[in-house]
Formats: sequence, structure tokens, C-alpha cells
Amino acid sequence: MEIIHISAECYPVAKVGGLADVVGALPKYLNQLGHHAKVVVPGYDNKFSKENEFETIHQGQLRLGWFTFSYTILKEKTNKLGFELYLIAIPELFDRPNVYSYEDDTERFTAFQVAFLNWLTETNQTPDIIHCHDHHTGLISFMMSHAPIYQHLNHVPTILTIHNGQYQGWFGFDKLHYLPQVSSSRLGFLEWNGIINPLASAIKCAWKVTTVSPSYLDELSEKANGLENLLRFERPKCLGILNGIDNEVWNPKTDDMLEFNYDVKTLSTGKSKNKKYLCEQFNLDPTKPLFTFIGRLVGEKGADLLPEICSIALSRNPNEINILILGSGDSNVEHGLTQLTHFYKGNYNAYIGYNEKLAHIIYAGADYLLMPSRVEPCGLNQLYALRYGTIPIVRRTGGLKDTVIDIGDGGFGICHDQTSVYDVNYSITRAIDLYNDVKNFDKTRKTIMQIDHSWEKVAQEYIEVYQSLKK
Ligand code: ADP
Repeated sequence: MEIIHISAECYPVAKVGGLADVVGALPKYLNQLGHHAKVVVPGYDNKFSKENEFETIHQGQLRLGWFTFSYTILKEKTNKLGFELYLIAIPELFDRPNVYSYEDDTERFTAFQVAFLNWLTETNQTPDIIHCHDHHTGLISFMMSHAPIYQHLNHVPTILTIHNGQYQGWFGFDKLHYLPQVSSSRLGFLEWNGIINPLASAIKCAWKVTTVSPSYLDELSEKANGLENLLRFERPKCLGILNGIDNEVWNPKTDDMLEFNYDVKTLSTGKSKNKKYLCEQFNLDPTKPLFTFIGRLVGEKGADLLPEICSIALSRNPNEINILILGSGDSNVEHGLTQLTHFYKGNYNAYIGYNEKLAHIIYAGADYLLMPSRVEPCGLNQLYALRYGTIPIVRRTGGLKDTVIDIGDGGFGICHDQTSVYDVNYSITRAIDLYNDVKNFDKTRKTIMQIDHSWEKVAQEYIEVYQSLKK
């Protein structure tokens, strides 16, 4: 089968969060299973596009309202990522370093989607499946199903995967003219609560909708930032598939971002060496348990509570624990976390920013990873932590609920029910007890390193979905 994935992010081309990891891995494993999966992302002005070689395979023009843009399709020359990678370069809109958060994101991602469909049309491509990811590619199913100029594509099945239902890409009907002409009778397929909602449109128009974990699908029927009723109505075509992890990238035995590689047999010494190295970099005490957090510093992740969680934990257990934070996001949270470095020198530190290599070193060197998320569609951090022998401390929500079982219930992690300072601190106390129970602590770390969350297994589930649509 020929499958085209279209997305705003793809690791290592452009990454903000878990969406990139999924789009950078799933196509590779689909190809290993004998299919032909390709990835299409915008051509950002970033490190990856500067350091790699591309050939121009198509050029065209697109109309966005009154404006005309030219676009170029660039193909990465070597296929070294394990799939064909295509960048859609639209100079006025995408030659910028960041993926999101520009005022004209509506224009940027609408143009990206129109350019994609124009390219398919002008080169007579009819793939077996088009797999769209999140709201940035949410208008594709609508245009393929309802815009007369793309009629020839309306037999091609489209799939939407919801990685995060909070963000929906809303814009007003005053920008309707950005889209190709459609009959007014079709506008209901674009609209939700009186405005154009690309995520809602994709939920209505895609042939199949998947979420990145089964529990997240259940939760969306109750809490989906306004889309609850729509998701309940469309439930028969929805399915939750838990994300996998790319074992070629996330393997402590071969990870070249680590100073010291290890596997399950050398876990104890391997993790100690990585912990010592990490503690030296951040002025922490390697003889004490190391609690960490990696992620976007936003409310969804419970990050607003982190300053208080940390200060209570460090005050209650003076010189008995370390905490290290890696993240960026809300400026108040960044400020609060930075301030704490003055009060708990030697036991606390924070790196405010995005640092892929440091994330790998933390997964390897930490004892525990905190994830007090309010919303977690799947969560990859806990899966990486498991693979690296770091015990996750999670709030039971979404994918965290599906992947982490509490040690008290015969499992291997530490779970709590609320995103509250009290619940997280109670879990930290339990974690300190486990750390001091050396035999049990080591046994747990060995167990978690061997849990299989590989894409090899998960890719097969996607193939079954694709095949069900081809019948
Ligand atoms: P989300 O996509 O909601 O941010 P996920 O858990 O699905 O959350 O994926 C987060 C990914 O981003 C993981 O690969 C994680 O290691 C990475 N990540 C998040 N914040 C940072 C950061 N500040 N530095 C390095 N990696 C980060």
C-alpha cells in the first residue's frame, strides 16, 4: 500500500513534541513491513533543511484568497530516515525557524494543505491512503470530499489521528475564501459552533479517526474542548491505538547521545554512571534519588504546579532528594522554576529550554520521571522512561492510565488520581520508600526496561485500519 503521512512535525526534521516522534517513526516501520509510506511536512528554515540535501521535484502556484504563492516540493535525497521525505517550501510563509505560534498560522497551514493537494493533482498521484495528523492537516479530508477541483481524489481514504484535541485551528468564515470553492450546502462540514474548525471538520470528513491511546478516546467524549458531542456522534468510526516508540532511536544500549550505554544486564552500573554524569553537570547529589520532569511547561502537563510541588518536596526531605527540570513554556512557570535554584542549591536545578540530547541523558540518569499531567493523549515520556529503566510517577489519565500500572497493584510505576500538589508529593514519598528498598527498586527497573512498546507491534494495527478502508 502507498500511504502518505502529512503533518506539521516529523522527527528529526522539525519537532515540538510527541507528534514529531510518531510521524518520524510509524512510516519507517510501515515500510519495514513491506508498504510504501512517505512523509510530507512544511519546509521550515531550520537545522535539518540546512544540513541535508534535497532535489526539487515539482513547482507550482497556489491561491489563498486574493494572494498567490509559489511552492516547491523538495525531496530528501538519501531516504536515510527510512521513508521518502518531502518538504513543501512556501518561502513567504514557512522560511522561519519555528513550527508554530506565528500570527498567520491559519494562512501558513491552509496554504500547506492546498499546496499538497495541488501537487497530488498536477502530478496525477492517487495514493492508497492519506493519513493526516492533528488540526494542521485537518482541512484535507474536507477539500478531498467536497471541493469540485479535488473530486478525482474523493475515493482515496483519509485518516485523521488526533494527537492533541485541545488545539483545533479555529478561524472565522471571513477566511473561507482561502479554501477552494465549495457548494454552500457543504459548509456544515467545516463548521463547529459558528466558526471554521479544522479539527472538527476532519473528525466529520475523515473515513477513520484514531486517537493515540484508547483511554484518551474515552476521555474525549467527556472533555474535548467543545467537541464532546461531535466525538460521541462519530464514535463508531473512531479507534484508540497506543503509540509505540522507535527502538532504534530510544535504546540505552546504542543511544549515541549518552555518555554511558547500558542494557538490562548492566542496568545498575550503567544508570549509576549516567546519574553521576548528570548530577555533575547540574550540581546535584548522585547518592540521593533523582526526580525529573521533561516537557512543555503548560497547564496540560500540570507544569503550573511544579514550583510548589518541588518546593514542598525539597523542604520536607531536606538534602534527601534531587529534582531536575527540563522544559520551556509558560513564562510564569519558567520564572518560578528558575527562582527555586537559589533556595535549594545542590539538590535542585532547572534547564529552561528545549534540548534533545539532555532529554536522553535525563531518561538514562534519572531514578524517577514525574508526569502530573491533566491531559495526556498518549505521552511518550513515560514510555522512554520505562525503556531507560526510570520509574514513571504519573497521574492516571489518557495514555498514562493505559501504560503505567501502580506497583501496589502488581505493576511497576507510581500512580495518583489528581493533578494536585498533595497527590504528587504523596507519590514522591512512596518513591523515596521504594528507592530505599534496594532489591525491589532494582527488580522494578529491570522489569520496566523489558516492556515492549515497539512500533513493530503497533504499525501492524495501523495496517489493519488502512486495509479495512481499502475493501
Ligand atoms: P507532547 O507532544 O504533548 O509535548 P509527548 O509526551 O507526547 O508530549 O512528547 C514529548 C516529546 O518531546 C518527548 O520526545 C520529549 O522527550 C520531548 N520534549 C519535550 N520537552 C522537551 C525539552 N524541553 N527538551 C527536549 N525534549 C523535550
